[in-house]
Amino acid sequence: MNIVPDITTQRLAIKLRPAGEKMVKKGHPWVFENSIAKQNVKGNAGDLAIVYDHKKNIILAIGLFDPYSPIRIKLIQFKKAAQINDEWFGNRIQQAYDKRKPLLETDTNSYRLLFGENDHMPGFIADVYDTVLVVKLYSHIWFPYLNDVIPHLIKQTACKSVIMRLSRSLQSSGKTYNLTDGSVIYGKLEQEVVVFREHGVRFSANVIKGHKTGYFLDHRHNRKRVGDFAKGKTVLDVFSYAGGFSVHALAGDAREVVSLDISKHALEMAKHNAALNEHSGTHTIMVADAFEGLQHLINQRKKFDIVVIDPPSFAKRENEIQKAKNSYARLAKLGAQLVTRKGVLVLASCSSRVIAEEFFKISEENITMSGRSFNVIDKTYHDIDHPISFPEGAYLKCGYYELS
Ligand code: SAH
Repeated sequence: MNIVPDITTQRLAIKLRPAGEKMVKKGHPWVFENSIAKQNVKGNAGDLAIVYDHKKNIILAIGLFDPYSPIRIKLIQFKKAAQINDEWFGNRIQQAYDKRKPLLETDTNSYRLLFGENDHMPGFIADVYDTVLVVKLYSHIWFPYLNDVIPHLIKQTACKSVIMRLSRSLQSSGKTYNLTDGSVIYGKLEQEVVVFREHGVRFSANVIKGHKTGYFLDHRHNRKRVGDFAKGKTVLDVFSYAGGFSVHALAGDAREVVSLDISKHALEMAKHNAALNEHSGTHTIMVADAFEGLQHLINQRKKFDIVVIDPPSFAKRENEIQKAKNSYARLAKLGAQLVTRKGVLVLASCSSRVIAEEFFKISEENITMSGRSFNVIDKTYHDIDHPISFPEGAYLKCGYYELS
C-alpha cells in the first residue's frame, strides 16, 4: 500500500543515564531527551532507537526516535531484540484485537483497537466506527511505517474505509508527506457522519471534523451503567457533548433527560443521536456554562434522580492541576445539591494529572460539604478497549454515589 512515499530509516545505538535506564527496565515507554547519555548518530523521525544497557552490551528496549518531542524515544519493544517489520506490526495488531474480543461479543461495533503506548504503539490511535476505521496520529514517528501498518488494520477490522486524522502539532509541522487531517486514505466514505452501536444503543459521529476521532469511546461502560438504571428516572447530563450518557438514559426508558453543554453544536448532535433510538422520555437541551447552569438549576429548586458530571480534562498542563482540583470540588458540591433523596450522583474525571484516589477524595469531601451523606455504589476505571500499561496512561475514573 502506498499511503506515503518510501521513507528510509536508520538504526541508532543509544545508552541512557541511570534514572532513564531504570524506567526503561520497568517497562515505561518514554525516554526523555535529557535521559540520553550516548547516541551514535543524529536521528530522524521514526528511526529505530536501540537502547543498550549502559554496562553490559545487551538490548534493553527498542523505540522510535522523535526529534520533535521532549519524549525523544517512544519505546515499542521491551527486554528482547526483535525485527520491527511487517510481521511484528501484524502480531501487535492481532494482540490488540484479541484483548477487545469480549467487547465485540456484545452489541457493539465501535471500539478503540489501538490505544497508543498502552498497546505498544505510542502516539497511534485507531478507532473503529462500524465499517470506518479512523487513525489518529500524534507523532511523526509513524510516517515511515504507515504503509506496513494500515493494511494490517484493514485486514483485522474488515473496515471499508480509513480516515487519517492528525494532531494539531502534526498539522502545523508541515512534515506530513502530503497527508492532511480528515483525508480518506483507503476506500470511499459515503458520509462524514457515521452511525454505529454501543451496547445496542445507536450513535453517530463526524469522523472528519469531530473532536479526536469523532466521539469519546472511553466512557462506554459508564454510559451503559447509567442506561441500565435510568428506567422511569429523571436525568441531568452535564458536559453532555454528543449525548453519550443522555442517549443511553433515554434508550433505557428514562422519563426525562436534560443535556447540558456549552456547545450548541454538540447539543444538536445529542438531539440527533437521541432520535436514532426509540424512546418515550422527554429530551431537553440546555446551552450553558456548566457552573452557571448548575447554579441556575439549584436556584430553580430542580432535582434529578441521576446527575452525571463528566467534564473535559481540566489539567492539560502541570500548572493547571490546582485549578482542576478546585473545579472538581465545585462540580461535586453543585451536583450534590441537584440530586433527589436516594438519587445517584455520577462524577467522572479524565485528567491523568489528577490521580484516581485524589479525585475520589475531592468528590467525597465536597458531597459531604454540600450537606449530603452518601454511599459509594461503585468506582470504575477504564473499559477493556482502553487497557493501561503505564501510570500516565491511566486517566479515566468515575464514582457512583447514592445520596441520602
Ligand atoms: N460526557 C461526554 C463527553 C464530554 S466531553 C460523553 O459521554 O461523550 C466535554 C464536553 O464539555 C464538550 O462537549 C465541551 O463542549 C463541554 N464543555 C467544555 N467546557 C464547558 C463548560 N464550561 N460548560 C459546559 N460545557 C463545557
